[in-house]
Amino acid sequence: MPLSNRVCFLVNLRDALRCRQCGKQPQGPENYHRGFEYHHRLPRSQGGSDEVENIVLLCHECHQQGHKTTNTKDERLSVLDLRPPACFLCWHCQTRLESRSVEMNCGWYRCHACQTQIPLYQHFSTALA
Ligand SMILES: [Zn+2]
Ligand SMILES: [Zn+2]
Ligand SMILES: [Zn+2]
Repeated sequence: MPLSNRVCFLVNLRDALRCRQCGKQPQGPENYHRGFEYHHRLPRSQGGSDEVENIVLLCHECHQQGHKTTNTKDERLSVLDLRPPACFLCWHCQTRLESRSVEMNCGWYRCHACQTQIPLYQHFSTALA
């Protein structure tokens, strides 16, 4: 079963659209998601859930690398906070939005205050510049 849009959105939001392992950022707005993958820290085959806390954003290279080494090179990840942010500020109008109830898709959210649909790529664009 594919991950829900909300789980993908929350993972993207929490990880600021960067590879959690090497910090790599997307190449551009049109293919912001290319080369990035969702990794289950505890695999589904071992009872891992599709909860946000069990999923991290990795670039393709780090993902492959992580799966090759059976010895879990996950220590760096485990010390990081894996909970999604409870709220965040609209990129456009700075209104505080609830992460778990905001209208969204995996790659954007819509602010109920200013009615703007904001791509996550744009949301994090200051960090990307
Ligand atoms: Zn990476
Ligand atoms: Zn994986
Ligand atoms: Zn807004």
